[in-house]
Amino acid sequence: AIEVSNLHKRFGPLEVLKGVSLTARQGDVVAIIGGSGSGKSTFLRCINMLELPTAGTVTIHGEEIAMKKDGHGGLMPADRRQVQRLRSQLGMVFQSFNLWQHMTVLQNVIEVPVHVLKIPKDKAIATAETLLKRVGLFEKRDAYPAFLSGGQQQRAAIARALAIQPLVMLFDEPTSALDPELVGEVLSVIGDLAREKRTMILVTHEMKFAREVSNHVVFLHNGMIEEQGPPEAIFGAPKSERLKKFISSIH
Ligand code: ATP
Ligand code: MG
Repeated sequence: AIEVSNLHKRFGPLEVLKGVSLTARQGDVVAIIGGSGSGKSTFLRCINMLELPTAGTVTIHGEEIAMKKDGHGGLMPADRRQVQRLRSQLGMVFQSFNLWQHMTVLQNVIEVPVHVLKIPKDKAIATAETLLKRVGLFEKRDAYPAFLSGGQQQRAAIARALAIQPLVMLFDEPTSALDPELVGEVLSVIGDLAREKRTMILVTHEMKFAREVSNHVVFLHNGMIEEQGPPEAIFGAPKSERLKKFISSIH
């Protein structure tokens, strides 16, 4: 489970997150929706400390990430090794499929398990091959990313994130850089993970998909949670005018 409490983030004078709190329990699929610039990516990046929050706490599986003042009005990790350890429990998939270009698909998937988590190579390869079968990429295991379609690259990125056996998967608009005909194959892989009750936090602009797979939807506006609730309520009976407007603008 992940617990985020009263998260604030500013970039210089710009306050991007203004006190966001969110809990994802085991098996929850939380969808985060909201307009461009509302702070969705920043929020996800603060969860795994790719961005350092200005205030607030992040607790992963009952363990709060220890922060200290950085002397410039912000925070920094009090213990880098704790951050590394907790980060290794989070699988992150970004909008741009940032595979390592000089490595094959298989090498991408086993890199962190072998070199960071110190899993024996033959075991890591066996796990990677199982994952590549799951995302339908087994026959591409020796290909370099440049020779894959966007949808294939994104499925490889999902296999790579799963290979660390994360407690929670974080997705940031995983289909927004894809050609429309490739969106379905990636959503289908993510949908399978959701149906397995894997804990996930998913930023998406695919409203139909969010409605299908999530059990909780958070609408961010201007760095704050404007409305949240079960998908039926958020999409079927939105209360806030801003949310109503947002939903009608998307369809
Ligand atoms: P989108 O839907 O377009 O991806 P978003 O909701 O993910 O938008 P963020 O990327 O979180 O939005 O950005 C929120 C705000 O923070 C924007 O105004 C953005 O310009 C600003 N911002 C994000 N990263 C930085 C940074 N590293 N430095 C300065 N400003 C930033
Ligand atoms: Mg974003």
